[in-house]
Amino acid sequence: MKPAAFRYHAPKTLDEAVAMLAEVAADDGRILAGGQSLVPIMAFRLARPSHLVDINGITALAELKTADNKLSISACVRHAAFYQPVVEGPLGKLLTTIVHHIGHHPIRTRGTFCGSVAHADPASEWCLVTATLNAEIVASSKRGTRIIAAKDFFAGIMTTALGEDELLTEVRLPLLAADTRFGFQEFARRAGDFALSMALVTYRLNDKTMIEPRVGVGAAEATPRRIPEAEAALAGKVPGPEAFRAAAEAAAAAIDPLEDHNTNADYRRDLVRALTRRALERAAA
Ligand SMILES: Cc1cc2nc3c(=O)[nH]c(=O)nc-3n(C[C@H](O)[C@H](O)[C@H](O)COP(=O)(O)OP(=O)(O)OC[C@H]3O[C@@H](n4cnc5c(N)ncnc54)[C@H](O)[C@@H]3O)c2cc1C
Repeated sequence: MKPAAFRYHAPKTLDEAVAMLAEVAADDGRILAGGQSLVPIMAFRLARPSHLVDINGITALAELKTADNKLSISACVRHAAFYQPVVEGPLGKLLTTIVHHIGHHPIRTRGTFCGSVAHADPASEWCLVTATLNAEIVASSKRGTRIIAAKDFFAGIMTTALGEDELLTEVRLPLLAADTRFGFQEFARRAGDFALSMALVTYRLNDKTMIEPRVGVGAAEATPRRIPEAEAALAGKVPGPEAFRAAAEAAAAAIDPLEDHNTNADYRRDLVRALTRRALERAAA
């Protein structure tokens, strides 16, 4: 099928883009970033936006920069930008490890990090990174700019705290200390498919015990999130099978699994248990 008719707008500056969005938002005007989620759902007529505000011509939104100990990823930075480490240290390696799990190469050359976060598919790898690392999300509109903490951003399946007239301009990820260990695992039935569950973990060591543990789970619930019960099972413990099993059990017990045509709640709980443990083993390797 072809998309329903829409008006196309191509602002050249951020001010023009937010002014245009303010005008058309109430009429289901939408931002067009990489188009890798929006265009297919328009083709299936699951979305029929009457206006598209294409932000790809705004050069200021193509920036990747480091400031105040944070990596700032602007709205038009493509997934493929992370094929090589964009910062030194564990954060650059973490992003390089994860990017290969997103769809296929052509999708990664057009789709954007911020578009994934704005779209908020529960199975988005970048949404899990954003939630697990407590990123800041910067939203701009004609009314001004505000910063939203990741924990307050994801509100449900493909639902966020963004207002209809707000453009997500930037995601800011904290740089990770040089001794941070991380592990990521996901399960999808075929390479390139959306995952049925995924886990991202990080921790540091202090005198052989784990400190600052983060355990994030995605694709298992309506929104990606950190699991405090699993983090508590790691803090102050020596990394190894006993602590990892306890954290994996805690993660599996804590979630409220999605049930859909792919799988049932019990299977997702089993996946979370296995993936959390394997992600921790990968971090320790
Ligand atoms: C076959 C296939 C497989 C895929 N597999 C995966 C996968 O495994 N993992 C994964 O994470 N993704 C996957 N994707 C989705 C892909 O990563 C998209 O690129 C991503 O979901 C959206 O980014 P985009 O830049 O293409 O956004 P678009 O498609 O342009 O926009 C998506 C939505 O977000 C809104 N939006 C976009 N940018 C902004 C912004 N800056 N401010 C406000 N609103 C905005 C749009 O209005 C729209 O509603 C897959 C896609 C396809 C087609």
